[in-house]
Amino acid sequence: LAAEWERFTSWSQGSGTHHERASRSLPLGVTSSFQHWDPYPISISSARGAWLTDVDGNRLLDLSMGFGAMLVGHLNPVVVEHVTRALTDTGTLFVTPSPQATDVAERFQRRFGLDLLRFTNSGTESLMYAIRAARAYTRRKAIIKIEGGYHGGYDALQVSVKPDLADIGPAEAPIPEVPFDVEAGTVHVIGYNDLGQLDRVLAEHGRDIAALVIEPVIENLSIVVPDEGYLAAVRAACDEHGVVLVFDEVKTGLTAGYAGAAQRLGVQPDLITLAKSIGGGLPLAAFGGRREIMEVVVDGRMAHFGTYNGNPLVMAAAQAVDEICTHEALAAAETMNNRAMDAIDAIIASHELPAHTVGLGVKGCVTWSSTPVRNYRDYKATDFGLAELSWLWGVNRGVLTPPGLDEQWLVSLAHTDEDMAILVDDFRQLAEALR
Ligand code: PLP
Repeated sequence: LAAEWERFTSWSQGSGTHHERASRSLPLGVTSSFQHWDPYPISISSARGAWLTDVDGNRLLDLSMGFGAMLVGHLNPVVVEHVTRALTDTGTLFVTPSPQATDVAERFQRRFGLDLLRFTNSGTESLMYAIRAARAYTRRKAIIKIEGGYHGGYDALQVSVKPDLADIGPAEAPIPEVPFDVEAGTVHVIGYNDLGQLDRVLAEHGRDIAALVIEPVIENLSIVVPDEGYLAAVRAACDEHGVVLVFDEVKTGLTAGYAGAAQRLGVQPDLITLAKSIGGGLPLAAFGGRREIMEVVVDGRMAHFGTYNGNPLVMAAAQAVDEICTHEALAAAETMNNRAMDAIDAIIASHELPAHTVGLGVKGCVTWSSTPVRNYRDYKATDFGLAELSWLWGVNRGVLTPPGLDEQWLVSLAHTDEDMAILVDDFRQLAEALR
């Protein structure tokens, strides 16, 4: 690992210099803390298709793709055309209703099966408003979240995100790790894939709980999939206790399939939050779902604001994304992803590595554990040393998977089989080196 870090600093000096400059104006030298790693992150100056160019002029195969936001690829020609038209012909911000926003709302209604929805500018905002809507609808305050789950920067969800195991008590009765000023007792934390814990929290606090917020497939612990029947049982438990079920599909969304993870897995929540992949790289997010709940915005139980919501520039990008992301286009990328995962699994088997791949739709990852990961505690028991080495190995050879080891790769509509062969070959070389 030390040799790989030495290698890293030898080819990325421009990024190092840029980091020094950036740190004088931006804390950590970055515009979001997720962009940072030690000793410094790669600074990118341009991107096209599935490739990035850094400030030293190195080309890197992008498998991070904007943490999954760049599903259609960098500078996708259809997105560029739509956005250019907004910039040159129609204008970028009216703060009035517009046919563009209504058109995208109708597209999302159809695609994701939402009765009503509103646009926001980030996943964080969508989660914040989804919780507000659930609270207004139920007239309750508390929420339930999943241990280890990340849902953006809103205070109520910055609880037990990546807690230290020493701080959170036994798995059977997790004590939430609460780093911010969240009112005690308003956030309950349960383990993913653990119905017993959900039942216990609902039995004790059910009448105070407004919402259960969950990623249907967790994509912030690499990828963790639900046990057979888990989500349906969560749905039933929420119904029994009058709790609003919120699926956070910020990461899954279009990357999980044409209509997101909920429809792919056949469990419909009450509210869905969307972001990242729906915006083609522009800041677009949304929350929506059942009419009865979203009507809290109609009758004044709650208000939802935002100067930039549904602006024509972003709406132009969203129209393009909706047109590009056909069943066929997504299926083709998913096939490429599955082929790459099969090839990597074969390398894992032949080299007897303590690892396996996990994927959903166009996303995939290598989890450094021989046994399946069902929740945060399993995830913490995976081999982070090998995860870091595997990530850095790729970066040093021009393959950028997401820097947080909690993330996964994305096969965008711009990737080709040749690109995926680079990922696989790179993994094969790592496996040889680990022998
Ligand atoms: N929810 C999930 C599952 C996420 O992964 C993220 C961001 O990574 C968010 C919410 C927050 O979205 P944003 O960064 O757009 O605020």
